Amino acid sequence: RKYIVSIVGRPNVGKSTLFNRLCRKRSAIVDFEAGITRDRKYEDVEWNGKIFKLVDTGGIVFNSIETIDKMVLHQVMLAIDESDLIIFMVDAQTGTTDIDKEIAKILYPHKDKVMLVANKADNEKYEWEVYDFLQLGFGDVIPISASQGRNTGDFLDAVIERI
Ligand code: GDP
Ligand code: MG
Repeated sequence: RKYIVSIVGRPNVGKSTLFNRLCRKRSAIVDFEAGITRDRKYEDVEWNGKIFKLVDTGGIVFNSIETIDKMVLHQVMLAIDESDLIIFMVDAQTGTTDIDKEIAKILYPHKDKVMLVANKADNEKYEWEVYDFLQLGFGDVIPISASQGRNTGDFLDAVIERI
């Protein structure tokens, strides 16, 4: 069976941006042929001769007052069940938020298959600040910039090292 990698995290951290960057070639072709307009959620990614299935969990929605919505719990639980590896994405420019901490609590018992990635680390300054996320308890944190492609090669290396 194919190795499944899911991206989870609160809204707006850049999950879809990373997904689209890693899948763009194939997605573009499929979109062109089929005229698909909606976001793609599953796509095969190949890196250094290894293939894995990438999942953009997207659509994580929070109630304005509740710390964590049933939707998040549901999406993160689904990802835990379905995935061999979970990319827990946080935002290097906002730092650790309460929602990140809630998600971390859910993921913590499964930490062996969690990889913490701090997106929007667009420059060195943000790369240094990602050490703030060590408090989430997942050990290493990989800084990337999904929109600029910064460090995404090292990120992919770390992913396929697990396959
Ligand atoms: P999602 O809700 O987690 O899927 O987040 P999106 O992929 O939709 O991105 C949310 C916003 O963050 C968009 O405006 C993106 O352009 C922006 N964004 C995504 N990645 C980066 C990044 O690496 N750096 C910066 N500065 N912005 C980013
Ligand atoms: Mg999205």
